[in-house]
Amino acid sequence: MNSATVSAKPALINLLDFDRKGLQAFFVELGEKPFRATQVLKWIYQEGISDFDEMTNLSKSLRNHLKEHCQIKVPEIVAEQLASDGTCKWAVQMHCGNRVETVYIPEERRATLCVSSQVGCALACTFCSTAKQGFNRNLSTAEIIGQLYLAQQRLGPERRITNVVMMGMGEPLLNFDNVVAAMNLMMDDFCYGLSKRRVTISTSGIVPAMKRLNEVCDVSVAVSLHAPNDALRDQIVPINVKYPLKELMEACREYAKTGPRKHITFEYVMLDSINDSPEDARTLVKLLKTVPSKLNLIPFNPFPQSPYRCSSNAAILKFRDILHNAGIVTTVRKTRGEDIDAACGQLVGQVQDKSRRHLKLQAQGLSHGQ
Ligand code: SAH
Repeated sequence: MNSATVSAKPALINLLDFDRKGLQAFFVELGEKPFRATQVLKWIYQEGISDFDEMTNLSKSLRNHLKEHCQIKVPEIVAEQLASDGTCKWAVQMHCGNRVETVYIPEERRATLCVSSQVGCALACTFCSTAKQGFNRNLSTAEIIGQLYLAQQRLGPERRITNVVMMGMGEPLLNFDNVVAAMNLMMDDFCYGLSKRRVTISTSGIVPAMKRLNEVCDVSVAVSLHAPNDALRDQIVPINVKYPLKELMEACREYAKTGPRKHITFEYVMLDSINDSPEDARTLVKLLKTVPSKLNLIPFNPFPQSPYRCSSNAAILKFRDILHNAGIVTTVRKTRGEDIDAACGQLVGQVQDKSRRHLKLQAQGLSHGQ
């Protein structure tokens, strides 16, 4: 052991990395009572206090210990863009230099925050701009809950965030533990107290993780389906090769039995002449009849050099009517924040790609030069 190792100060523990259970265990290990966790959570998330000296219901010695060994550290908002429809997009800088994007979507009766779970994405859905960025790493729990913390702080108490969708950059179920801990904090009465119906995780269909989620966390689930059969889904959502529709729909049926909404929301991006024919719609009806479902049609949002176009309005409406007439509740998602590239699939951040995917795409002339 050299002298540098001996004198190196251990890294401070970021208390935003713990959900309530984790924080209770942390305090018990310090010889404190578990209820210290709820006191500290309230200071952090409800009072917005990050200075341990101001946590006046903790003993002086505990405050001193926390000051020496812990921190409350959030990432930093480095850019803000406001769209004409009130949607706001923030670039959130992580301490490693990477950036992700977080989007605030105000509506008449609710305000939704779209939160990122990874820097980039390791999946390669062909119509998604985040996918083209490649992948760097999972976000920590602090970096995920930090997006809600920062957004709420920025918006102030008058503009409360009522809903969170894990639909930003990344595949949340491939960052399982950190995403679950962050969602626990979103729903915890001592933190944000959002109802489980108002926290939604969106997945491209990581089947084993959907089963695990069912056991540990009770949130609403949306599945990015995008194709009515394996042949097409294998091409545009390649994770389908590993977890084909039969397994995916089985996992959805299981989740719907116990999940807070008793149905699964399926997302389906409308790609001109790819997945939008009346025959596709009829095949989709048969597939969705096997699961309690709702369907959300998403007009494709273009990005530079994407190989697709959005389906025509007429095609989208016809598609919707076929599903609707077959008894499946179908909505067409209103595109929000389009003028600031904040719409679905347009989030790019700044990713130091470790997967080298952007290099491969550049070679094929498909990257958009981020
Ligand atoms: N990886 C997760 C979370 C991303 S959510 C998932 O796949 O569900 C983002 C949603 O927007 C997904 O349904 C995704 O498939 C969809 N999407 C991606 N690119 C899009 C684009 N260019 N236009 C419209 N929707 C898109």
